[in-house]
Amino acid sequence: MPSVAQVEPITTARVLRGPFDYARPEGVEVGSVVIIPFGNRDVLGVVTGLAEDSAHELMAPKEVLEASLPADLVALAPWIAAEYCSTPARALSLMLPPKGIRARTTLRARALRAPEPGERLTDGQRALLESLPRQAGGDLAALRRLEARGLVALEPEAMRRAPHHTDVGASAGARPQLTGDQALALEEIAAAQPGERLLLHGVTGSGKTEVYLRAAERALAADQGVLVLVPEIALTPQIVSRFRERFGDTVALLHSGMAAGARYDEWLRLRRGEARICVGPRSAVLAPIDRLGLVIVDEEHDASYKHEGDPRYDARHVAERRARDHGAILVAGSATPRAESWERLRRISLPQRVDGAPLPPVEIVDLVGVRGALHPQTHDALVDARKSIVLLNRRGWSNFLTCVSCGRAWECPECDVTLVLHKAQGHLSCHHCGHRERIPSRCPDCASVSLARHGTGTERLETELPGPVFRLDGDAGDPARVLDAFQRAERGILLGTQVVAKGHDFPDVELGVVVDADQTLRFPDFRAEERTFALVAQLAGRAGRGAAAGRVIVQTLAADSPSIVFAARHDAAGFLAGELDRRRVLRYPPFSTLIRIVCSGTDAGAVQAAAAAIQARLPGSLGPAPLFRLRGRERSQVVVKAADRAQAVAEVGAVIDAIAADRAHRAVALSVDVDPQ
Ligand code: ADP
Ligand code: ZN
Ligand code: ZN
Repeated sequence: MPSVAQVEPITTARVLRGPFDYARPEGVEVGSVVIIPFGNRDVLGVVTGLAEDSAHELMAPKEVLEASLPADLVALAPWIAAEYCSTPARALSLMLPPKGIRARTTLRARALRAPEPGERLTDGQRALLESLPRQAGGDLAALRRLEARGLVALEPEAMRRAPHHTDVGASAGARPQLTGDQALALEEIAAAQPGERLLLHGVTGSGKTEVYLRAAERALAADQGVLVLVPEIALTPQIVSRFRERFGDTVALLHSGMAAGARYDEWLRLRRGEARICVGPRSAVLAPIDRLGLVIVDEEHDASYKHEGDPRYDARHVAERRARDHGAILVAGSATPRAESWERLRRISLPQRVDGAPLPPVEIVDLVGVRGALHPQTHDALVDARKSIVLLNRRGWSNFLTCVSCGRAWECPECDVTLVLHKAQGHLSCHHCGHRERIPSRCPDCASVSLARHGTGTERLETELPGPVFRLDGDAGDPARVLDAFQRAERGILLGTQVVAKGHDFPDVELGVVVDADQTLRFPDFRAEERTFALVAQLAGRAGRGAAAGRVIVQTLAADSPSIVFAARHDAAGFLAGELDRRRVLRYPPFSTLIRIVCSGTDAGAVQAAAAAIQARLPGSLGPAPLFRLRGRERSQVVVKAADRAQAVAEVGAVIDAIAADRAHRAVALSVDVDPQ
């Protein structure tokens, strides 16, 4: 019987790495979560191993918590740490259920025997006995007295805090007859080898979700668990609803928007095997699911799968690893897959919409010489259409403000970016750090009152659109409610940032408009083309579903860019073939691995010195290149482009550890991003 528990303290410190030895209390196993005395405080820790003996004198954990991690997750933590140049403790902290919560129980009372004739009971006690079985609730003291006399038994019973989820687009769980393509896709999934990875490339509206549902049904029947990853839940509530309709309580929901109590209970239901399907956004990739047989990554192109905190994990990459560990089948689905997935995963396709309707024709409208945000032709089309979706990836009224007299531009004091004007809220705000200031009435430099607003955001466009507008962006209320109102409306325009292009299934949208297709193209990033293609094709996919005949208008200044040309033809294969050729030549992913190291600090010289030191230790790396100041911090980056991923990650990890431990660079914070997006 090993008597030593090796405990990894859950701290964020990079230099402090466990595990440390503690005495092993009874019942403690690998995965147990404990509170340990550590230095002069108590910290949370996870048991990562057991040992027969230790060279140290051992302290005992102060407490063993109710929820424990499964062994497969404990084993995954060091891999995540190494893969993303982080620490096992940080990886473990992502896996834990909400802290400071325990399962809630209630006491239920039942009668054990009838009162003897002549047994003395008050009227109140008699009434209480007659009302059994019941929840103890407010009359606990009275019930305890009856319990003491052997009349009733009080037993604890788990009380589930269910997640709050507004079901949308409910189809009452109907199980439609599969189309021929869906049936073929399902057969391919069923015939896949354990650990195999598939890409379900299905055009928008081709019924991918139904294929997921059937594959999940098969997995459940084989007593396997299912993980379903979706982009942000608030924006794609439909898929959650469809899984819940079909499978009921065996579906657990896990996302950060849930109350901690409900999240804890859902987590525990999975851990105990009471729920066998987990649906959630990227963080759910670490859900405790035993005997995982199927991992689904819906809308696999979605940027939200990348986590921005440390460790900067990519849920798609972690999902592949979990699937491999469990011998589970991975199905990544999208109408606009990433070049990486197209190249590396076995493809199955759903080439047609379920209803057989053609994809809507896409018109490219050249914005050269057009004043204002909308081409007159676009405006007319909006007047004609009953329901439309308009995409403008820019919140606020206008992107920046200048003084006409002296040229002053309003910038964030903490970041080197211009402030965005939000008219209704009456302020200028920084979209990077949240800084706000009141809208000025005159220029503080030259006192001129003639200030110019440049560019158009969703807030302003709302006022220029014909017809009732349902605005969906970070400033405009609860997304589920806006989507629901739009769904039920007779006429109207759903206007918003890129969230309007995400997976929604409205049967009666006649027109889709991309107001400024070049906006994503302007990003200086090798994924700019891919992102633009996805945005245009996804928006096109929202139009012309169901009975409505659809059309799409794409406004652009770059009418001949491949992303726009291929998106207009709904030709993902054509686009990806060209894109992969380009990346092969330029040695971009998937033909290499990129690692980005960002140094930041308040002192520009120190930041530059640290970045230069890192660059010097990583032969062949690019940089250091200055980045714009963010939240008052100067930044500089070094980029590694490597053929051998594992080797590059290990080298970068070693260099980062060395620089982090070097007192000369202690004023500089380091962050490593493997596979930056
Ligand atoms: P995708 O995710 O590929 O864009 P969806 O899964 O949203 O497509 O399916 C589009 C619509 O078609 C949904 O309303 C869905 O209920 C419906 N649907 C899917 N499969 C079938 C089928 N076999 N028969 C009838 N309707 C279907
Ligand atoms: Zn001025
Ligand atoms: Zn700022």
